Amino acid sequence: TRVLLTGGSGFIAAHVLDILLEHGHSVVTTVRSQDKADRIKKAHPNYDSKKLDFAIVEDIAQEGAFDEAVKSDPPFEAVIHTASPFHFNVTDVQKELLDPAVIGTTGILKSIKKSAPTVKRVVITSSFASIINPFKGNWPEHTYSEEDWNPITQEQAVENPANGYRASKTFAEKAAWAFLEKEKPNFTISTMCPPLVLGPIVHYLNSLDSLNTSNQRIRDIVQGKAKEQIPETGTFLWVDVRDLALCHVKAIEVDAAANKRFFITAGYFSNKEIAQIVEKNFPEYKEGLPSTSAPGGDYPKDGVYKYDNSRTKEVLGIQFKPLQESIIDTVKSFKSVGA
Ligand code: NDP
Repeated sequence: TRVLLTGGSGFIAAHVLDILLEHGHSVVTTVRSQDKADRIKKAHPNYDSKKLDFAIVEDIAQEGAFDEAVKSDPPFEAVIHTASPFHFNVTDVQKELLDPAVIGTTGILKSIKKSAPTVKRVVITSSFASIINPFKGNWPEHTYSEEDWNPITQEQAVENPANGYRASKTFAEKAAWAFLEKEKPNFTISTMCPPLVLGPIVHYLNSLDSLNTSNQRIRDIVQGKAKEQIPETGTFLWVDVRDLALCHVKAIEVDAAANKRFFITAGYFSNKEIAQIVEKNFPEYKEGLPSTSAPGGDYPKDGVYKYDNSRTKEVLGIQFKPLQESIIDTVKSFKSVGA
């Protein structure tokens, strides 16, 4: 299948790209600069430009940003849209988080409808942020599934960057389903809703200083920042980036994924467990790791929400990697960029 992958320089997209190529698909990926295209190309010497090519899209928040990128010879049959800001370092939530998420998503759907009629499936990286009800706390009596939607409003969205990020994912995914309903395009969509994504980074794009947001807690533990006090875990669900990437690729390969939302989680984790796994497997970091008496990072005493990940397992046929394997591989990948 000929696939357009957006945001190919991202943490998750780098793994999606590798699995697409392994599965024999031919890929054009969008990046924001020629330098990033060159680095990705150099890291994949076995794929020529028919198998792996690039389009520059500098800012997905611009109207019509994808108008040219969706055109290709041979034409695209599937699109995987991962690009969206995931960080909390913003001063203007609307401009820096909401606009790129929402305009990016509706923009690519419009461009596909207008100029890429051969596209049959569009996969969108949404988030558990669009499922969780952040105003319910740990909500032990509730089981989250694809039925749930974050009720966050525009007014709450602009209150702070954390709300802003969650709202950006919620509004973008809602906008995608609304587009489908209203525009009745030629394609079907699948939305991917992972909670915290952990796992190895690719050495050719990363440094520990510019690490993607979700792996930063592992880096901080390794670097001794949790020694006295383990930070609170926040969201208690996770998934390995390689499992999530495989879900994205399965979502273009499996007919039954059409027009479905997928809650993609391997299960529970806590920051304390991450620290324990690092301690057990990397004695060289022992010095900076939290002592057994260090407070914080544990599960809440009164319990936490439950989850139903059965649709992902059944429709996409995914078996999830355990936390220990994911943490070990992540720390090893940090070493490959000089940790
Ligand atoms: P990264 O920050 O590594 O990737 C984000 C990607 O989006 C980068 O390629 C980035 O390009 C691109 N991007 C961001 N803003 C723009 C913009 N305005 N114009 C063009 N490109 C842009 O994060 P992840 O890989 O973790 O995130 C990928 C997707 O997964 C996002 O949609 C995120 O919301 C979602 N997600 C991630 C989770 C996680 O725990 N990691 C959990 C749930 C969902 P560049 O690097 O060049 O800036």
